[in-house]
Amino acid sequence: MKTLVRLAACFSLLIPAFAQTPARERMVIVISLDGFPAFALDDPKLPVPTLRQLIKDGTATRMTGVNPTVTWPNHTAMVTGVRSDETGLLANGTIVRTGGWPPVKVEPMLDKEQMVHVPTVYDAAHQAGLTTAQVDWVAVNKAPGITWNFNEWATADGPLEQEMIRKGVLTSADLENFTKSNILFRDQTWTTAATYLIREHKPNLLLVHFLSLDSVHHTYGPGSLAAASAIAFLDGCVARIVDAVRASGMTDRTTFLVVSDHGFRKYTKQVNPGVALAAAGLGEQVFVLPEGGSAYVYFDSAKAAELGPVVKKALENVEGLDRIVGPDGFAAMGLPQPDRDPQMYQLLLTARDGYSFIGATGGPVTSATLQQAGSHGYPASDPAMDPVFIASGYGVRPGARLGRIQNIDVASTIAELLGVALPNAKGKPVPIR
Ligand SMILES: [Zn+2]
Repeated sequence: MKTLVRLAACFSLLIPAFAQTPARERMVIVISLDGFPAFALDDPKLPVPTLRQLIKDGTATRMTGVNPTVTWPNHTAMVTGVRSDETGLLANGTIVRTGGWPPVKVEPMLDKEQMVHVPTVYDAAHQAGLTTAQVDWVAVNKAPGITWNFNEWATADGPLEQEMIRKGVLTSADLENFTKSNILFRDQTWTTAATYLIREHKPNLLLVHFLSLDSVHHTYGPGSLAAASAIAFLDGCVARIVDAVRASGMTDRTTFLVVSDHGFRKYTKQVNPGVALAAAGLGEQVFVLPEGGSAYVYFDSAKAAELGPVVKKALENVEGLDRIVGPDGFAAMGLPQPDRDPQMYQLLLTARDGYSFIGATGGPVTSATLQQAGSHGYPASDPAMDPVFIASGYGVRPGARLGRIQNIDVASTIAELLGVALPNAKGKPVPIR
């Protein structure tokens, strides 16, 4: 009997800690650094001591994102485990038909239940009786699967905001015109919200999204001193979250996943396809919605056979245009067919390296910018668009070799960490253990 007890004790040491602490006593914290390119970590002098420590204690790799390499589609892919042909996200909001001109507009304020077409990992966690929280996550308006919300558009009358004001963590002045506050202040406020949630509520799943690096990359381009400053600033935000976990005594039962949604490219020239189309007499029939490194071309699908070749001809010699992709190329890019999703366009344009699309009225077709700037939206197969994946803490084996992963694998990884099922997901759990 004694031997048996000893044997059992021995085996319990061999069982990974992973299985030992029930999910409802654990935290999975997903921190998204918007626009953090995987290639940034190749620079050994990148000022990121906190991220380096998380990697040293855990593991990191490059991901392949989904098309379009835009914020909301990729954040939604990471919580659903499917690509944009299934999530319903093709822009930073739902693309709605206006019935007039322009024929489409992007609507970010629809409810999550209308916007996201498949179950999410936070829905699965919520249904399993776990608690969930989001800070500045996207496509989460009125999401029933989220216990605590601190929104991108935080206001002093939100329930969590009121609670934080009552406890002296925030003031109502902090939240006055919050969406118009500078992005560094907002990222700091979102960090305060994340640390508050960790301290006071210990949600089993916490999704946090920081925006400042994306803004800086758009204005100054990746690789600039401004970008390095924003990255150092974000490293400090992550450090505050790690410290909050430590202070709450949850370090040995918390998993950190630090991710991004897309990379970035610098550009010095802008392409305005609408001007080329107007010059060809197509200005009132064809509409272009620019998305940085790609552009969506809309025209009446009933006239596709007639208009398609004319549009292609009008664009074929435009400087900076790389590819014109028709519906026959959409499936391979993980995009839906125009007849399946009313958000879809008839043609997709992609830009060459060094170029980005704009949709201004008038001006030249292709023009130089005053200074270097940055864009994303280039095809997900472009390594510069690769997002980063860092896993550290509970259930993560230090030095685990991951190889390249897909960002749709993130949802299944979260589901596995929390012990919940996400049957619709097409990604697979990342082998972090
Ligand atoms: Zn983004």
